[in-house]
Amino acid sequence: MRLRNVRNKESIMAVSNIIVWNPKDKIGHWQEEFQNENPIHVEVGMGKGAFLKGMAEKYPDINFIGIEKYDSVVARAVEHIGDVPNIRIIRMNALEIDEMFDHEVERLYLNFSDPWPKKRWAKRRLTSPIFLEKYDHIFRGQKEIVQKTDNPILFTYSLESLSQYGYKLYDISLDLHKDEELSKDNVETEFEHRFATQGNPIYTVTARKE
Ligand code: SAH
Repeated sequence: MRLRNVRNKESIMAVSNIIVWNPKDKIGHWQEEFQNENPIHVEVGMGKGAFLKGMAEKYPDINFIGIEKYDSVVARAVEHIGDVPNIRIIRMNALEIDEMFDHEVERLYLNFSDPWPKKRWAKRRLTSPIFLEKYDHIFRGQKEIVQKTDNPILFTYSLESLSQYGYKLYDISLDLHKDEELSKDNVETEFEHRFATQGNPIYTVTARKE
């Protein structure tokens, strides 16, 4: 997400109760952070947090952690989210995700991730084998990745990469908003709202691996 510099981002972030500043210290102990034993779902590249907030309100018995690499975006997200007991935010690059979680996450959401459309950038996509290997370290039990995107290059790449890595693919749609079953419980992200309003189809897949 390209966002103009938010001038008072440090002070906005400093007063937030949902940002975790020392996330590497929490490895292996994330449930203590929430003081319950509810499952943990992570969104990588959470943007301004509309999805995270909508999901956390809809599913109060799930703990949601949003990861975002830019301070300005995190500042906008914490302003938007406020204090929600089952949300935490980490300002970090997803490249370090395997240093934050040790077999503690039940589901990963990748919503409108940067597509890195040129072939030579494929390694940077959040569904490249480099990232899939890191995710192996964060999942507890069955691994589950849910992707939504408007980008056909990223989507076809993800289907191939995930299945080559041993994931089985479920709930695939090339037009999520026209799929009655899949859109029933759908919570929109900011990008999704924008693209869908412009009439673009939204692609989705749920990938699972034992
Ligand atoms: N999920 C939101 C935002 C999508 S834009 C939505 O659907 O509306 C992609 C977001 O991912 C941007 O905010 C970008 O800063 C973040 N991002 C991209 N690569 C990342 C990485 N390696 N680690 C953490 N965040 C990343």
